[in-house]
Amino acid sequence: MYPAIIEEYLAPATVADALAAIAKHDGEATVFAGGMSVMQAIKARLIEARCVIDLGNIAELRGVSVGPDGAAIGPMTRYADLVRDKKLHGAYQALNDAASTVGDRQVRNRGTIGGSLCWNYIAACMPPTVLALDARIELTAPGGGKRTVPIGEFFLGALETVRRDEELMTKITLPAAKGKAGSSYKKWSTQVDGLPIIGVAVYIETDGSGVCTVARFAVGGILPIVKRSAAAEGQLVGTKASDADGIARATAAAAEELDPQGDRWVQAAYRKLLIQSLGGEVVAKAFERATGGAA
Ligand SMILES: Cc1cc2nc3c(=O)[nH]c(=O)nc-3n(C[C@H](O)[C@H](O)[C@H](O)COP(=O)(O)OP(=O)(O)OC[C@H]3O[C@@H](n4cnc5c(N)ncnc54)[C@H](O)[C@@H]3O)c2cc1C
Repeated sequence: MYPAIIEEYLAPATVADALAAIAKHDGEATVFAGGMSVMQAIKARLIEARCVIDLGNIAELRGVSVGPDGAAIGPMTRYADLVRDKKLHGAYQALNDAASTVGDRQVRNRGTIGGSLCWNYIAACMPPTVLALDARIELTAPGGGKRTVPIGEFFLGALETVRRDEELMTKITLPAAKGKAGSSYKKWSTQVDGLPIIGVAVYIETDGSGVCTVARFAVGGILPIVKRSAAAEGQLVGTKASDADGIARATAAAAEELDPQGDRWVQAAYRKLLIQSLGGEVVAKAFERATGGAA
């Protein structure tokens, strides 16, 4: 299907100009990151975009920095750049994993982390990943007013977030690790390059002897909203990489607590098994990255 007529295409070079354009068009403008999801919606006429505001020229919205206070990621950072970014290794490495498994090469070259979080598709890879990394989302409104939302409060439901139509996502920040930290993400899908039936992201922090002191276990692809499992996290704290039984208990607790739904792709019971098997692999990888392989 052809899209309805787009009357105006704007490609501002600054956040201030983009926000001014959003305010000027008062609800008639559609923001465009990589276009990977929104363009499909425009073509299907689910969205009628009188004016498109393309964020692709705004350099201040791109890039990754990592320092003693944590990491800051521009929402226009593309998957292809996240895949290659070695600064994320260790504590934030789940982002490398997740970006490398999104779609195909074309999608990774165009799609952005911010676009994925703002779109909040039920099965996307980035929402569980940033949930496990305990991100904070900076939103900026026309006029420059900013607010920061903890990721646990950002996602409301399928394709819904707390972002107001006139706000731009301008930064994603991740806290610094207090101990040695590692994270990992893995998805399982029914086809190569497909969206995840289940995606699991795990963050592990350890003390000097390899014992887990902080755990975050997030699952996507199952429910209208991505979720963390407090039960799994409670079981993981105090375990070590070598404690296979403890890790198995944690992933079983996640499957039970998250109680995934069945749909036309797979049954609920199968998703529970996936949470356990994928979860075990992802926890092991996060431990390995946190401890450098020491049990
Ligand atoms: C063939 C194919 C396979 C895919 N496979 C996967 C997969 O395996 N895993 C996965 O996670 N995803 C997958 N996707 C989706 C892909 O991840 C998209 O990149 C993602 O949905 C976001 O697209 P985008 O960055 O191009 O954002 P766009 O489509 O341009 O925008 C998405 C939404 O976010 C809004 N938006 C974007 N940036 C901002 C901002 N800074 N501030 C405010 N609003 C903003 C837009 O207005 C729009 O509503 C796939 C897509 C395709 C086409």
